[in-house]
Amino acid sequence: MNFSNPGADIFVPEAAIAPEEALRQVTHLCVGAHQDDIEIMAQSGISDCIGMKGKGFGGVVVTNGAGSPRSGSFAAFTDEQMLAVRREEQREAARLGHYSIQLQLAHPSADVKRSGHAGVASDLASIFSGCLPEVVYLHNPADKHDTHVAVLLRCLEAIRGLPASKRPARVLGCEVWRDLDWLPDADKVALNSGRNPELARKLLAVFDSQISGGKRYDLAAIGRRTANATFHTSHATDSLAGITWAVDLTPVTRDCGPSIRDFTAALIARLGADVSQRLKTWS
Ligand SMILES: [Zn+2]
Repeated sequence: MNFSNPGADIFVPEAAIAPEEALRQVTHLCVGAHQDDIEIMAQSGISDCIGMKGKGFGGVVVTNGAGSPRSGSFAAFTDEQMLAVRREEQREAARLGHYSIQLQLAHPSADVKRSGHAGVASDLASIFSGCLPEVVYLHNPADKHDTHVAVLLRCLEAIRGLPASKRPARVLGCEVWRDLDWLPDADKVALNSGRNPELARKLLAVFDSQISGGKRYDLAAIGRRTANATFHTSHATDSLAGITWAVDLTPVTRDCGPSIRDFTAALIARLGADVSQRLKTWS
């Protein structure tokens, strides 16, 4: 297995098998922009795979994680040192979460933002053609982080470039920077992220280089899951301890499907109609 950037990292935490074989065993695949995005988005998929025969979780981090803010004990770190720390933190998450494979492609964010960048395109094409997952977790199209949106678009391009029979069965866009509580209920996919709470806490706490500067992503991600579960329905008791909201992007990956822009604009229009209708009903 070879990727285009010399800094790419291929890590198979558990089994003594070739990376190609580990990737083939992946049934739940998450592709995120940065180290820690996977653990915020796909706790549900990690839980689905732990201890389950025939299930395997795969994590892919597309960028090198450069340019992250640093403070506290990391304040004096050079870019190179910071990249090494973040790479190792992601490996530790993969160990803790018993992932089948963890890939870090180490692309500069600027390359990911260019459609048609040969290295990014070929790396993603070889990953998506090297497994046939039941479910793929991606960033959501209404995310407000530019790199997240760019990674989502590159992934959709790679999936659409596969023969129809080789495309993943289900593709979900998950909340990170901008939650998905605003989606009309009929368009929401509830990912059960309330299982294995102690593991979930540890998986987020691994990313000390991001947290120790005062960005408590660990508390925020778990708090959001709890809030989503409670504020889901006003008349029912909480049936799940934690929910991560996602939107089903599978139609966008099909040949006759809508463009991601039209698909997302339609979701936003449905929110507008829902708000407007309720105001009208109770006027
Ligand atoms: Zn991110």
